[in-house]
Amino acid sequence: MATIPTTTLPLGEKIPVYGLGTWMMGESKSKRADEIAALKLGLDLGATLIDTAEMYGDGEAETITGEAIAKRRDGIFLVSKVLPHNASRKGTIAACERSLKRLRTDRIDLYLLHWRGGEPLTETLDAFQQLQFEGKIRHWGVSNFDTGDMEELFALPGGDACAANQVLYNLKRRRIEYDLVPWCRERKIPIMAYSPIEQGRLLNAAILKAIAQQRRATPAQVALAWLLRQPDTIVIPKATSPAHVRENRAALDLQLTADDLAALDRAFPPPHKKYGLEML
Ligand code: NDP
Repeated sequence: MATIPTTTLPLGEKIPVYGLGTWMMGESKSKRADEIAALKLGLDLGATLIDTAEMYGDGEAETITGEAIAKRRDGIFLVSKVLPHNASRKGTIAACERSLKRLRTDRIDLYLLHWRGGEPLTETLDAFQQLQFEGKIRHWGVSNFDTGDMEELFALPGGDACAANQVLYNLKRRRIEYDLVPWCRERKIPIMAYSPIEQGRLLNAAILKAIAQQRRATPAQVALAWLLRQPDTIVIPKATSPAHVRENRAALDLQLTADDLAALDRAFPPPHKKYGLEML
């Protein structure tokens, strides 16, 4: 099994390019034990980055994450997010403190504004800086920010300290390649690709099945390997089934060929003009 490569945050810290998503965890009591077990299995397989949010399961996904990382917090890179309606100066600080309690930790490694809402960005930024000063978050970033949003953010004092932008990105959702990916790449800001297999909806594509068959892989592995070929893209599939956890982790062993990539480009063409950012 290949070790998980790292990418570099703007301040120089290395973080894994592969991690575990948690959206839709914590929504059903009967699935709770399986969800904790899936996260623990992912960690055992070396996937030490976990992506969660106060929104997921109304806080329950963070509680589950807290249980999964109990006694092994060190060495884990924990990402969580504040909801836009909580993202005032005071609200962000209070939301972060609630998240820390649920996660049973004293720090979040990367804290993101989940998407842009009504609160002024300057307030959220102030709160992020305060939380960073207090050691409650180590880095901050954004999610669902298009290029114009990033430009607005960078025009604010301290806005250029943004460490990552988490956006919808998979073979079917390539709009960001037109200008957001190059914009972030130029500033060495990693993209975190969410819904990397389009919540499972990508997996019936004939081309994915064909490449998977040729490469003795699965369609999900082809979709993940396609994202992972870019060294500055962090990929965070969610899986509760242990078979899916193992299968996704093994995508790091799959190197797609130039022919595979060309065939995928034909089936899922890159954008040739600017389209607005999509989100799920
Ligand atoms: P994904 O594309 O990761 O798909 C998850 C779904 O696919 C689950 O139903 C899972 O099933 C299934 N699945 C996982 N692996 C396989 C496999 N190998 N074969 C077949 N099916 C599989 O979607 P998400 O939307 O969950 O995105 C990933 C993560 O990104 C989220 O969990 C969240 O952490 C983050 N995210 C962030 C957003 C944002 O706005 N910032 C928005 C959306 C997601 P099962 O669980 O049963 O194994």
